[in-house]
Formats: sequence, C-alpha cells, structure tokens
Amino acid sequence: MKRRNFIKSLAALLGSFTLGASNSDASDTEYRWKMVTSWPKNFPGLGVGAENLAKLITTLSNNRIKIKVYGANELIPPLEVFDFVSQGGAEIGHSGAYYWKGKSPACQFFSSVPFGLTSQEMNSWLYYGGGLELWEKLYKNFNLIPRPAGNTGVQMGGWFNKRINTTDDLKGLKMRIPGLGGEVLSKVGGVPITLAGAEIFTALQTGAIDATEWVGPYNDRAFGLHKVAKYYYYPGWHEPGPSIECIINKDAYSQLPKDLKLIIDTACKAINIDMLSDYSMKNMLALDFLKNNNIEIKEFPLEVLDVLRETSDIVLEELSRRDDISMEIYSSYINFRNQITPWTKISNLSYLKTR
Ligand code: CA
Repeated sequence: MKRRNFIKSLAALLGSFTLGASNSDASDTEYRWKMVTSWPKNFPGLGVGAENLAKLITTLSNNRIKIKVYGANELIPPLEVFDFVSQGGAEIGHSGAYYWKGKSPACQFFSSVPFGLTSQEMNSWLYYGGGLELWEKLYKNFNLIPRPAGNTGVQMGGWFNKRINTTDDLKGLKMRIPGLGGEVLSKVGGVPITLAGAEIFTALQTGAIDATEWVGPYNDRAFGLHKVAKYYYYPGWHEPGPSIECIINKDAYSQLPKDLKLIIDTACKAINIDMLSDYSMKNMLALDFLKNNNIEIKEFPLEVLDVLRETSDIVLEELSRRDDISMEIYSSYINFRNQITPWTKISNLSYLKTR
C-alpha cells in the first residue's frame, strides 16, 4: 500500500495523471499523453492527420485527454514509434503497420499489400470482416491496441525516366520501392531500394536511383519529383489503399473509462475517413497541375501488371508460411479479397467504366 502511494505521488509529481486513475472518479481524471509519429511535423496528409487526431480526441473528451504531438525525430526517430509506444515511452502513436515487418511479417497486411484491398475494401475487412480483431490479436503480444486512423487511397505506380513497355524494362532498374512491392520488383529482376521520403528527390536527380514511387500526385508534387522524371505511371499496384495506424499503449488504454475509450475509437474512425477525403481532393488538384506541366502520365501495360500480380501472389504466399499468425491473417485477408472482388467488379468497376 505504501509503495502504491509512493508511486502515485511520484506520478503526480512528474505530471502523469494516468497512474492515479483507478482510485479517483474516472470521469474527472485528466490524462496528459504524448503522441509520437513517423511523419515530419504537419507533413501534408499524414502529419496533418496525426495533428487532427490528437486535436479531435482532446475536443471530444472536453480536455480530459490532452495530447502533445511529436513529429519524426522530435522525441524519437520515425521508425521507433512502435517500440516506444509499446514500452510506454509515449501513450499513443501514428504510423504505418508495414514499417514493423521486422516484428512480424504479418504486420504488412494492416497497411497495404501488392494487388491487395482498396481503401473501401480494407475498411470493410477491418471493421466488418474480422480484420481488426486479427490486428488486435497480433499487436497484443506487443502491449499495443491498433486502430485504423487514415488512408492515402490508391497510390501511383511511380516516376520513371524511361518507358516501361515490357517486364524486361524492369530488369536492373534501381527503384525506390519499400516493402513487399520491393520484393516483387526484385523477383522480376529489378533492384529495390529503400530510402526515406526526404532523400528521394536528390537520389533521382543524381541518378543514384532510376525510378521511385512515393505516394500520389499531392505528396509527390510537394517533393518536386516532376522536376526530375519524365513519366508518371499508374496504377499503384504495390499500394492500392494503405491504411495508416493509430497505436495505443495497452496499459494506458485499459486505464481509461469506457467513454474515453469510445472517444478514441470514434476519433480514429473520423480521421480514417477525413484523411482519405483530403487525399482524394488534393490528389485531384495536383494531378491537374502535373498534366499542365508536361508530365506524361502513363498506364503500365497489362502484360506487365499480369506478371507483377502473379509474382505478388507468390511473395504473399511465401510470407504466410513464416509463422502461424501470418498464415491466419493471410488466409483471412486473401479469402476476403477473393470474396469481395466479384462485388467490387459489378459495383464500382462497372459503374466507373460507364461514367
Ligand atoms: Ca508508397
């Protein structure tokens, strides 16, 4: 008992109110949280999404949860968000699940995989198709609660300085493309390179890389990639609708009263749709700009996409055999994709063909 009192007064001294929550009226307790993110502070789309999420939680909770947001490298490097929140260094984080493939290869299913789900399908799998339960099961081992909290929508295929007519044109191509997309490129003879966003422009300008993907017109234009490449290819077969994640330290989340838990969950849902809407609008405007600036916007030939799709299926199947949980998540994801595809074809796809 004495020890508990000591810890309580120490926590109060340090300005942390979370430890005292269990002994006081939970509805009065004020929580002061830190949010760490993998994005530069206020970075268009992603960083703005993190700020909006923090502000929304504070407003909806009537200041009962106050969150200070740290951009990449302000408190920790961008790729330490997972460990830092897991260990309680910060209570909450905003990032992308595919960065954590070193923790478990299955993490990648919760951002985006090549020839995987669109943002609309992804939300359906997560909220109604059992995806979020599997995500929670995976992250439980790391003392984390995951929530979808943003989506970029389908990305672009990338920037090239030569035409891609056949898969032979991908052979030896040094392309900045991280994750599973990179593994697929490697299997068809390309050379995938992982570079942080801020390094891409110079690498392409100096010829250190031949090609790059980043996000879509909005973010790509901000980096000036149109000044150092001729062709802008679509579609983003490797990232058809990446989900952005909010992760919450499980101990911090468990201490919250029910209404605050619901406020966090609801704020994440709101930001999930808000970020996608923002990206759609800004991508639309940036595409117009690029079209008027002598960029050739080209579709990958179907035969190239066919080869990439077949190769992607092999890469995903290999990933599934890494451990039991990867197999469980892979099976759920792929079954969902196979089941939803006929519906997406006769709804969105056929409608868009007529518009
Ligand atoms: Ca990307």
